[in-house]
Amino acid sequence: MRPALALIGLCLAGCGAGGVGPDPGAVGTFSVSPGASGAAAPSGAAALRAARRVAGYGRRHAGGRAEARAHAYVARAFRGAGLRTSVQRFGVPGGKRSRNVIGVAQGRRNCLRIVMAHTDSARGIGANDNASGVGTLAALAPRIERPACDTWLVATGSEERIVTGASDHLGALALVRKVRARGLRGRLGWALSLDEVGRDGLRGRAFWLRSPARRRRAGVEGALLAAARRTGVPTAFRRDGRDSNSDHREFARAGLPAAKLGTGGAGEPCRHSACDRTRRLRQASLARAQRLVERALAQD
Ligand SMILES: [Zn+2]
Repeated sequence: MRPALALIGLCLAGCGAGGVGPDPGAVGTFSVSPGASGAAAPSGAAALRAARRVAGYGRRHAGGRAEARAHAYVARAFRGAGLRTSVQRFGVPGGKRSRNVIGVAQGRRNCLRIVMAHTDSARGIGANDNASGVGTLAALAPRIERPACDTWLVATGSEERIVTGASDHLGALALVRKVRARGLRGRLGWALSLDEVGRDGLRGRAFWLRSPARRRRAGVEGALLAAARRTGVPTAFRRDGRDSNSDHREFARAGLPAAKLGTGGAGEPCRHSACDRTRRLRQASLARAQRLVERALAQD
C-alpha cells in the first residue's frame, strides 16, 4: 500500500474563519495502551467519551459544519494514536463537500481489513446512530498498532440517505472507489460497518451482524462471529432484507466482502429522531463492540 495522503493541517472542509480550529483537549482524552494482544479488555470509557463528544457537535448533516467538526475531532484522535491519517473528499447533493477520515495501521500487506462508522446523523444528534460507532473507532485507534492485516479505520461521511436524497451511502461509495483504485479489492478480507453499537451486545440484547450473504462466509461472517464468541459478546447473524441499510451496502454491491455490526432484535426506536440522545449510550455495549473488533483485527 502506498503511503496515504498526508493530512494537511487540522482544519477540514467546512472550516474557515471561525471554523474548526485545533482542540488541544481532544487528543488528551485518549489514553494509549498496549495492542490488543496483551492489553486489558477495553472498559468502554474512552469510546463513551468519544461518542459523547461526537454527539455533542449536534445534528451532523451530510456536508454540514457539525459533520466537519466531528471529522476533525476523529482526525485528531487518529493522528494522536499514531495512525497514518488522510482525508478523502467527495461531493454531496446541493453542492456541498463531505469526506471520509481514514486512519491506517500497518499489518501484513497481503490482506486488508476496514472498520468504518458513519459520522453524519439524520434528525437529532444521532447518539446511537452513529456517534456510538465513531466513538468506538476513536477508542480503537490507540489499541491496534499491531493488527494481523493492514487495517483502515474510517469515519465515513454522508451515509444518511434520508438527508442526502442519494440512492447510495456516499462516503462508502467513495471508499469503495479508493479500494478499487489502489488495486486492493483482492486483498480485502472484510469491511465492517459499526452502526448503532451503543445499546446492545448484552445478555438478552445480542448485536446483530448483518450482511446480504445467503450463508455465513468463513472469512467474513464466520470470522467476525468467532471473534464475538471468543470475547463473549452476544452476537447473532441475520441476513439483510431487500436492501442493506449501512455503509457495508456499497461494498457488497461492488462484490466486496462486508457486513454491519449493529442493533439487534429490539432495533433502535429513536433512530433518526430527537430522542437518540447521549443518555441512551451504554458503556458496556461500546466496550463489547470494541472488544469484538479488537479480537477480529488481531486474529489471522
Ligand atoms: Zn446509522
